[in-house]
Amino acid sequence: MQLPTWGVKFNMARERAYYDPAVSSLHNYISARSMDFCECCGLPGAPTIANIAEGKGPRSYIALCSKCCSGSPYLSEKVDWLESNLDTARLLYVTAALISNPDGTVMVCQKSNSLWEFPGGKMNEGEDLGNCLRREIREELAVSIGKLRPFLLVDHDYGHIKLRLFSFTAELSDLSEKIHLHGHINYRFERVENLSTVSFSQADVAIAQRLASQCDVDYIQPVDVRGTTRLV
Ligand SMILES: [Zn+2]
Repeated sequence: MQLPTWGVKFNMARERAYYDPAVSSLHNYISARSMDFCECCGLPGAPTIANIAEGKGPRSYIALCSKCCSGSPYLSEKVDWLESNLDTARLLYVTAALISNPDGTVMVCQKSNSLWEFPGGKMNEGEDLGNCLRREIREELAVSIGKLRPFLLVDHDYGHIKLRLFSFTAELSDLSEKIHLHGHINYRFERVENLSTVSFSQADVAIAQRLASQCDVDYIQPVDVRGTTRLV
């Protein structure tokens, strides 16, 4: 089996990462599983791998930002979610791009079920998050995106599937490239302060809410991955 560049064995049959001591240390597994996002609040920057259950297995560890490391009312809830879903259920690793314009708008795409989402898609074996997102945007929209900045990790349970959704802010690399839809039925650039009026897929709602909370700025602020303590 080809190993992905991010160092965690990735089981294509079950489309999820799992811990294999022959492949990676436990610390590296947790770091790669969380992709340097906080597994509690979802914000970028998780310098601490905490052993919250004093166990030795992968489910007893969680990657935390400095803020959550010093306490979070959501920690026990998140630990329960991880214990229930890691290595035991269908957990898809997916990416989403928040493609913004300097005029304060962000791209939203409509699926065939009429709900809207931020474009992106599932990780393939051997990909890292950036490779995955650039490929998905190229496949779905026929355009290229520039530098990616980590924005928010959302774990969402749809029942039949569970998503670990990694979102990044980005801009179009070449504004002269024409967008062609492959997989969506519509798209538009929506003003960030109007995102609350958009009917999003459930997993995208938290991302939209965080974007909208920044609507007092001219465009989406890039997130400093070392600056989680100053973020709301
Ligand atoms: Zn956190």
